[in-house]
Amino acid sequence: DTAMYRSKEVAGGSFHFYHEGMGRRTVENVKYENALYRALERDEFVLFYQPQIDYCSGRLTGVEALIRWNHPVEGLVPPGIFIPLAEQTGLIVPIGEWVMREAAGQLKKWLDAGYPPISMAVNLSAAQFEQDDLVSVVERVLEETGIPPGTFHLELTENQLMRDSELAIETMHRLKKLGVHLAIDDFGTGYSSLGYLQKFPVSTLKIDRSFIRDLMDDDDDRALTDTIITMAGNLGMKVIAEGVETKPQADYLATRKCTLMQGYFFSPPIPARQLEKEFLKNEKGMLK
Ligand code: C2E
Ligand code: MG
Ligand code: MG
Ligand code: MG
Repeated sequence: DTAMYRSKEVAGGSFHFYHEGMGRRTVENVKYENALYRALERDEFVLFYQPQIDYCSGRLTGVEALIRWNHPVEGLVPPGIFIPLAEQTGLIVPIGEWVMREAAGQLKKWLDAGYPPISMAVNLSAAQFEQDDLVSVVERVLEETGIPPGTFHLELTENQLMRDSELAIETMHRLKKLGVHLAIDDFGTGYSSLGYLQKFPVSTLKIDRSFIRDLMDDDDDRALTDTIITMAGNLGMKVIAEGVETKPQADYLATRKCTLMQGYFFSPPIPARQLEKEFLKNEKGMLK
């Protein structure tokens, strides 16, 4: 999409973030990379929040923060468009740090406003996870915002953990010591073996939405979903089904004792204000 490359900005400090050999450095990429860098400076990124629901009680248990780029010309650009380039260029590191700070800061505001405690999940890219100072960055975010560490959930994908699993395990233990929770995102799509899973100190598995999509018609997807739920239970992990779009899917999962769900059936990712109006205000009412 050439529209994305319209930025006339002169290449600037963004070079600093470029890692040699991490992707082809075309003229378009340099312009786009620069636009991304400026977006961070100009505060053009926004977080949307997708509710995570306990289907048994109907209550909101947490949200997942999902980034969008509020581009002055293009409007809201989804992460699938710019996260890959941010990852290739290393810009994902400062962007990801902004995400953690913004998400934790938002949660703090909600807690201070008297809304019931919920969890806040953020996605971590491989490049972030492999930063030497990730643990101290997370620690600083927790200190600066003052949120209870246990409310902060970091989502990693299986493949991220398999890249250098010894190092991953060590980093995860250091994160866990801070009190934050770790979740494996898009679970079932990667290469981790079931036996391997118990080596990772994760508290939650998120069943990838590709298994949920055809849950009602596809025996294999149902078998896989059942297996993941059972396995998570045996390992003492929570399980969240992603991409729940219909009531039959939700009902099926509930019969399998998977009651934590996220998906369009409940809500797409929405701005903070909308989450307050449509979810948090009701929850506050329920506390009284
Ligand atoms: P993810 O972490 O697996 O997030 C779930 C994605 O599925 C979101 O897409 C969400 O809008 C979408 N989704 C949720 N429910 C449904 C549903 O019922 N049906 C369908 N079809 N889709 C649903 P989104 O927001 O476009 O994000 C895509 C991916 O971009 C995320 O996948 C995550 O990997 C990445 N991403 C988003 N925000 C961040 C971020 O702040 N940092 C990093 N590193 N990656 C991010
Ligand atoms: Mg996620
Ligand atoms: Mg996912
Ligand atoms: Mg993902």
